[in-house]
Amino acid sequence: MTAAQSRKVNEIHVVAPAAPGDGLDMRKRAAAAVAADHADAVDRDGRFPFEAFEAIRARALMGVMVPKDLGGEGASLREVADICYALGSACASTGMIYAMHQTKLACVIRHGRNAPWHENLLRQICDRQLLMASSTTEGQGGGNIRSSVAAVERLGSTISLDRAATVISYGEQADGVVTTARRAADALNSDQVLVVFLKENYSLEPIVGWNTLGMRGTCSAGFKLKARGEAEQILPEPYEKIHVQTMMPTAHIFWSSVWAGVAASAVERARLFLRNAARHSAGQLPPGAAHYTSAAMNLKTLRALISASIQRFEGADEATAASIPFQTSMNMLKVEASEKAVSIAHSALRACGLAGYRNDGDYSISRALRDALSSPIMINNDRILGNLTSSALLDETPLSLTD
Ligand SMILES: Cc1cc2nc3c(=O)[nH]c(=O)nc-3n(C[C@H](O)[C@H](O)[C@H](O)COP(=O)(O)OP(=O)(O)OC[C@H]3O[C@@H](n4cnc5c(N)ncnc54)[C@H](O)[C@@H]3O)c2cc1C
Repeated sequence: MTAAQSRKVNEIHVVAPAAPGDGLDMRKRAAAAVAADHADAVDRDGRFPFEAFEAIRARALMGVMVPKDLGGEGASLREVADICYALGSACASTGMIYAMHQTKLACVIRHGRNAPWHENLLRQICDRQLLMASSTTEGQGGGNIRSSVAAVERLGSTISLDRAATVISYGEQADGVVTTARRAADALNSDQVLVVFLKENYSLEPIVGWNTLGMRGTCSAGFKLKARGEAEQILPEPYEKIHVQTMMPTAHIFWSSVWAGVAASAVERARLFLRNAARHSAGQLPPGAAHYTSAAMNLKTLRALISASIQRFEGADEATAASIPFQTSMNMLKVEASEKAVSIAHSALRACGLAGYRNDGDYSISRALRDALSSPIMINNDRILGNLTSSALLDETPLSLTD
């Protein structure tokens, strides 16, 4: 893409028409530019980012991670994380919806391999650019994903599930939902399965709306989910294994990439603000300028953390993925990335001063900060830290830098 084709959209995006046959990078940038153009309206109206997903689908980005023999492009986790980053910097809600969809796909790709129903689903996702939602939050249980109340009921080869799904992002817009559930009526809460239902399999009765500070376009309302389907829609491997190997690490990598993108958009606005301010005052920088340095450096640290986590995930065999150090580091990625994203957006706001605090104008940090604030509570960091305390106590404090 030439510089002439580029333009600033308050963010770090370039616009150029891109078709499904173009390279991933070009398609990512084109979709992100559309998302950026509509991000303010999505946020203001608390509505689904239709235009962005039209652009994403038109560029065949929904199934990029699906293996080539099933109709996808076999894109790597790093490539998908990079799309999450670009979309997140354009429109946080678009990025997060894409990230949640890709997390579900990662589970089906890895744990539904050789299962005819799931392989067919992956083909459908590529052919029809289907969007999959996620349902883990249930009743008053919040983000305790490793425990389900509602159980899968079996009658011959058919199954049913009635679930108080307190939060399903883009539940109304999705083409299907991937949900955790108790394996059977007599199973323990922790004996879970992961089931895929397509839209024709279920009804959603609204129970609570989504009027929030940020991430307003994820439309994460609550529903009573009533689903009927075939037993083969249950992923063949137990959720315990799926969670450890794929769901938790990929969710944390993709979410963190979105939040880093949100933080990057705030940093870029602060950079442009300071350059503009310096131009208009003979090189004199505004009083908050030092906060920019902090934001920019923290963004580099955050990007390095995500990159190292992707490398660690890609290099982990089954035994390593199940180990306590691996699980701890992948959980801590979410905690660290979310805290950093908030702090970066806040530093960018301080750098921009009043121009950043405004809800309007080219240098407003308002949307980025509000969106970033969702990150520490999207599975509460305190819950994660509390769960990790016992295992952290077993780890001896390193006495050398090379340990
Ligand atoms: C932008 C966004 C999008 C989301 N999208 C989805 C989605 O698509 N699908 C989905 O399933 N979830 C979604 N969630 C919900 C998320 O997965 C968590 O369920 C949610 O953030 C709550 O996490 P938490 O329970 O750790 O934190 P908190 O907010 O701290 O806890 C939530 C509630 O859980 C109850 N609770 C849980 N455990 C206990 C306990 N031991 N004792 C007392 N009370 C308890 C309390 O009522 C508490 O108010 C989304 C969240 C956000 C912010």
